[in-house]
Amino acid sequence: MGTHALPATTPESDAMEIYLDANATTPVLAQAREAALAAMADDYGNPSSVHSTGLRARSLIDDVRARARRVLGASTGRLLFTSGATEGIQTAVLSALVALRDRRDAGEAIPGLLLYGATEHKAVPESLRHWNALLGLGLQVQAIPVGRDGRHDLAWLRERAPRAGLVCTMAANNETGVVSDLDGIAQALEDSGALWLVDGVQALGKLALRLAERRIAYAPFSGHKLYAPKGIGLLYVREGAPFTPLMAGGGQESAQRSGTENMAGVAALGAVLAALEDGGTFADAATLQAWRDRLAAALVEAFPALEFNAPPALCLPTTLNFSVPGLGSKLLLDLFDAAGVRVSGGSACSAAKARPSDVLEAMGLPDWQAASAVRLSFGPAADDAFIAEACERIRACGRSLRESCLVPSEPKALPPGGLTRFVVDGACCYLLADAASRRCVVIDPLPELTTRLADLLRCQRYTVAAVLDTHSHGDHASSAGELRAALPELMEDVGTIDALGWPREVHQLTLGTLLLARLAVPGHTLDSTAYLLRDAQGLRAAFVGDTVMPGALGRSDFAQSAPLSFGTSLLELARVVGSGTLLLPGHDYDDRFASTLATERRAQPLLARVLGGGLDAAGFAAAKAELERDLGLTRYQTLACGARVDIRGDQATQELTAAQLRQLLLAHPDLLLVDVREPYEQRLGQTPELAAPRVRHQAIALSQLLLALPEWLALPAPTPVVFFCRSGNRSAQAAEAVRRLGHDQAWSLAGGLALWRPEAMAGEVSTA
Ligand code: PLP
Repeated sequence: MGTHALPATTPESDAMEIYLDANATTPVLAQAREAALAAMADDYGNPSSVHSTGLRARSLIDDVRARARRVLGASTGRLLFTSGATEGIQTAVLSALVALRDRRDAGEAIPGLLLYGATEHKAVPESLRHWNALLGLGLQVQAIPVGRDGRHDLAWLRERAPRAGLVCTMAANNETGVVSDLDGIAQALEDSGALWLVDGVQALGKLALRLAERRIAYAPFSGHKLYAPKGIGLLYVREGAPFTPLMAGGGQESAQRSGTENMAGVAALGAVLAALEDGGTFADAATLQAWRDRLAAALVEAFPALEFNAPPALCLPTTLNFSVPGLGSKLLLDLFDAAGVRVSGGSACSAAKARPSDVLEAMGLPDWQAASAVRLSFGPAADDAFIAEACERIRACGRSLRESCLVPSEPKALPPGGLTRFVVDGACCYLLADAASRRCVVIDPLPELTTRLADLLRCQRYTVAAVLDTHSHGDHASSAGELRAALPELMEDVGTIDALGWPREVHQLTLGTLLLARLAVPGHTLDSTAYLLRDAQGLRAAFVGDTVMPGALGRSDFAQSAPLSFGTSLLELARVVGSGTLLLPGHDYDDRFASTLATERRAQPLLARVLGGGLDAAGFAAAKAELERDLGLTRYQTLACGARVDIRGDQATQELTAAQLRQLLLAHPDLLLVDVREPYEQRLGQTPELAAPRVRHQAIALSQLLLALPEWLALPAPTPVVFFCRSGNRSAQAAEAVRRLGHDQAWSLAGGLALWRPEAMAGEVSTA
């Protein structure tokens, strides 16, 4: 009988989660939780009831409203409880637009513009468009441009304000923290009759809005951005400003917002407002500023090349938004998360690609900066120890990246060797390195990677034997020359090189025990070349460029293509590499990593036909041209390098919950568990430990996966291999790749370490 201690607890360092995403939402303050519990357990009455229980609830809601008036400086006007800022924004926009419609219907000429700041939260422009269309107003909805500092263009606004019916400008931006110049905006609106909506969400508790003094007509707030629960908010409406209820019904909130009140939320918000009033709970502005400066200094120490995306002097003292050249926001989020630090990507990440942040784009930041932004935000209930721990973990992130040579660093004594893959929008670049001889070859360099590769190689003390292309590209010039120029001291003197970078004097490139040879495979281009990698055990892999990609053959309709040679090249490739050798492509649009001719024959009927001898050169070229007619762009909006006939399907099928993993372990004690996070994440902790020797555990980063594939493919058919990572995305890619190559028992731990609960696997599993 054998037993396994299953993945156990997380290390000490992760006991305290450092939550630096307060602009997204905050935890609920202890006194707010208590107030909410009391409202549910004791004062649970309906404030509309006239009995004593109801009267107590009424008294509570009245007290909280009075407190909110004091805190917001809104002694007059309406102040209603809402479900949050989105509802407050709807109500304000509906109110303003109904008033405009009524004026129009009464025969008055109404202003034609609805203006909103270009960096507003989506809720504002979306509700402007929604109600403008629904009410049949047909007004022009326009974004007020912002400058590089994120502030509104006041001259632009002043010019259009007289023609505007509603102007919406947030008090402080959620992504950058940039604080709007509300007095400047008020001046720009002097000659305008426009109603003014100020989204106060990010300002609450951090900035005084002086609602009574300013001509602000509407100001929505949200509880969950300041330690109250989600689902409670406030809307201020200036006395005399138009108002239309969004919800009609039982007449609650003086018929301004029907629906039984969220009393737990109201009570919790009341506790937060009390904390704001009594001054003991939240740090003052000077303290917040000092904390932010400490965090900023730690970031600069960790990532010396970092750029702040908004001028700190113009920002909330609780928000930092930055980008690091060469490091995408995905990489940084993975890194921070591994250190137990929760931050947010400043941009919306679609499945394929980090879309640049609309806010940073509107500010005119360069694409790289807008696409790789990271936001770090804290709340005024933080304390000194929290900030100190946050700074320490940020520094640890920097150290981990330096250890991995991902930021410029002292040369490392022991460079890891092997084969690393880099992917940019589906295009693949490979670094083949031999640790013993400290020599390397770069295959298919990409311009986006020049700086990163140069830093990496310098840090790892490799010399570069060659920078090779597998073909001359149809859509761009190779960046090989750029990379060579960036590394003059590391380039070996190999005499003259050909157009693809191969040293003319050399028949075979030797890196320690690794050998690289060429095979001409004209087709995709006339000069297409495969590089064959051999070691002492024989042929290990072939870098095949775009000749054969997972699910596609390289297109051959470029001016430099040789379509009539393509079929023969495929037969030659098959003769030299056989059906099982790993093929490493120039493009991998579906995260399949590698392929083999056996796999591609199954997936691509045209390839099967030509390899089966069923097509001559002309027949193959014609059938292929048919496939390539009207090729669209890829999901990365780049030129497609081939017609994909086998596109990646549903990943959910290979996901395992923790409970399923437990079951699988019971049935298969020989299961192999593989951590595919990068070394810079693994180094920061939070690795589930497998104490029992019989549960095999490997750490193979996704970027280093390729040469490990054959080992997993050679496992006995029933042996499961379970990949895990931070969130389950990368492990799903690995599992799918291994399955496609033929090992059916490849799985991904659903939700990764983010959803990992040691309890789900707790205890010893008997494998008798
Ligand atoms: N406005 C700003 C500036 C925000 O940051 C948010 C929340 O992300 C909202 C509005 C929407 O708030 P709620 O989640 O309460 O609907």
